[in-house]
Amino acid sequence: MNVSLKELRSGVCSHIDFDYTIDLSKEEVNFEFPFEKPVRFFGSISDMAGVLNLTADIDAQVFSKCARCGKPVEYQKQVQVDFVLVSENDGTADEGDGVFTVGDEVDLAEILVSELILNMDMITLCSEDCKGLCFKCGADLNLGECGCDRSGKISPFADLAKLFADDNN
Ligand SMILES: [Zn+2]
Ligand SMILES: [Zn+2]
Repeated sequence: MNVSLKELRSGVCSHIDFDYTIDLSKEEVNFEFPFEKPVRFFGSISDMAGVLNLTADIDAQVFSKCARCGKPVEYQKQVQVDFVLVSENDGTADEGDGVFTVGDEVDLAEILVSELILNMDMITLCSEDCKGLCFKCGADLNLGECGCDRSGKISPFADLAKLFADDNN
């Protein structure tokens, strides 16, 4: 996904449109491979009074698992990016938030894939109020109560609370 910027810089054209679909099935995020289907990157690089702007939409189908109950979760992830591409010959601008230094060409995949991964959620839930699994019998508590006694072991602080309670006796 290397795009030459020579024509933009020399004024032959004012913008370069792109629309890529790339295979990221080998890309690991949070110990999973969530991009089972190809990911689409589309947008343009345009010359705005001598400044190159990269605007793009990233559109990915994400295949993950609920962090509480383990159920497969599938959702659409959309990320919009808006970056400034500074020529390495300029030497004036600092590389920082949203600014990339580029030579005669820019590797769009490198910029956009890392942007997508930065924007991925650390935790996926099948629903905000997923009750998770019983830690004793493994039953899916969303389907109903299993009957286990889970009191006293819910948090590691429960034992500590009991210690304090004993002290007071
Ligand atoms: Zn769940
Ligand atoms: Zn149970």
